[in-house]
Amino acid sequence: MWFRRDLRLDDNPAWAQATSSHEQVVALFVLDRRLVDSAGPFRRRQLFANLIALDDELRARSDGSLCVRWGDPAVVVPEVIDAVGASALYLNADVSPFATARDHKVMAAIERMTPEHRAPEHRATGRVTARVSHGTLVHPPGSVLTRAKGVSKVFTPFWRTWADTPLEPWPTPGGASVLALGGDPLPVPDAPPPMAPGASAALERLERFATRADAYAIERDLPATAGTSELSADLKFGTVSPRTALDVVGHGSPGRDAWCRQLAWRDWYAHLLVVHPQLVTEPMADKYRDIAWADDPSGFEAWRAGRTGYPLVDAGMRQLAETGWMHNRVRMVTASFLVKDLLIDWRLGERHFRHLLVDADTPQNVGNWQWSAGTGPDAAPYHRIMNPVTQSQRFDADGGYIRCWVPELAGLSAQAIHAPWRAPPLEVAAAGVSLGDSYPLPIVDHSEARKRFMTVFRPSPDA
Ligand SMILES: Cc1cc2nc3c(=O)[nH]c(=O)nc-3n(C[C@H](O)[C@H](O)[C@H](O)COP(=O)(O)OP(=O)(O)OC[C@H]3O[C@@H](n4cnc5c(N)ncnc54)[C@H](O)[C@@H]3O)c2cc1C
Repeated sequence: MWFRRDLRLDDNPAWAQATSSHEQVVALFVLDRRLVDSAGPFRRRQLFANLIALDDELRARSDGSLCVRWGDPAVVVPEVIDAVGASALYLNADVSPFATARDHKVMAAIERMTPEHRAPEHRATGRVTARVSHGTLVHPPGSVLTRAKGVSKVFTPFWRTWADTPLEPWPTPGGASVLALGGDPLPVPDAPPPMAPGASAALERLERFATRADAYAIERDLPATAGTSELSADLKFGTVSPRTALDVVGHGSPGRDAWCRQLAWRDWYAHLLVVHPQLVTEPMADKYRDIAWADDPSGFEAWRAGRTGYPLVDAGMRQLAETGWMHNRVRMVTASFLVKDLLIDWRLGERHFRHLLVDADTPQNVGNWQWSAGTGPDAAPYHRIMNPVTQSQRFDADGGYIRCWVPELAGLSAQAIHAPWRAPPLEVAAAGVSLGDSYPLPIVDHSEARKRFMTVFRPSPDA
């Protein structure tokens, strides 16, 4: 069994199949330098800690352990297959173009493992069969289709069909023994991970959230309140299955229904990426192809550092830099600010988020960035531009979130904190704030930036 982003033993279709079809199983994880090196510190720590937790779980349930190997999966997976004389490889599919290309390479390498190419003692095993399951989404790609057998480019119809699609049977692990195959040492995180690692911690988070999910519809947009589940990293690494999440939270109140709908967004972006892999870098429609993005390194740096002079934007960017996570409402505001106020290419923002987010996940990150930029499927219309001050007044009304992440503004009143440059100078000074010194003045004027965006970002008519 080749684990990738399904680091759990329950509700894991590939693991269930492997352990119920064979007497012995190797639990393998390949640490691919290309992925590990591109992950920022938070995701790397979370991955390493999750691997240690998976190893602990395997040891607790059997005599076996997790076999971790550094290297290129196209080399390592066949090597391990050969070393133990395995007859089959089990895995859960992944959808990003990177993962798809990698998996093709691994499958091609396995195809070449004909009996005459195997170690003499394993020749009788014959060819290796690869069995691919789906364990990272609620519904597998290709199972939620329009009448024309495509993936809807509009979310609501997708969601309606998604909600009516029956779940595939719940898999239960079999009784295979897990081999304790030597590998490389388990990687050790250089600092504690952002989230308590492993499947049991994920389940606790899920169960805790389920007790307050009724309030989700109201609290989900308030970044100062712990109103969302904070399960995105668990869903990214697969320490929890999205089907278990759906089952535990359930339906029956507007909050629960709204939360389950978010899992449909997650599926939708993944299903779309399977059909339109070019979305990783290209807009959905040709009319957005030739936008004259600004070349503005200092604007980009101010955004990255949380020093734009817009307190809500800065609070979000600092939360990201310090924790590897950012509240969804603030992700939307910071993304809109980069693209629409600074006119900077969404792909730069996507790359920065991808590096730092503990939950960075190609379909979700790309889908949401394209949504924010107005260039993706069913995206926010390009002329809908988030005002960073009114968003702040609405969703962080008493400024609690800003005070947490931009402490130099903590002394300002709830009226002044959203736009300190508009506050009475005496009040600003009394709060110990020196604009342009202890905290920056706005790097752009939002209404001017809005006009510039509307001029530059006028899409050409569809071809
Ligand atoms: C610019 C931008 C970039 C983003 N990048 C990512 C990313 O790389 N990885 C990621 O998982 N989410 C991403 N999101 C979506 C969303 O912000 C996070 O999933 C959410 O904040 C995670 O917190 P939570 O688990 O408490 O969410 P909850 O509100 O509790 O939602 C439950 C789950 O539903 C899914 N979900 C929620 N909102 C969305 C959404 N808009 N799109 C897709 N799935 C969603 C997530 O898996 C989430 O864990 C991004 C959003 C924006 C605006």
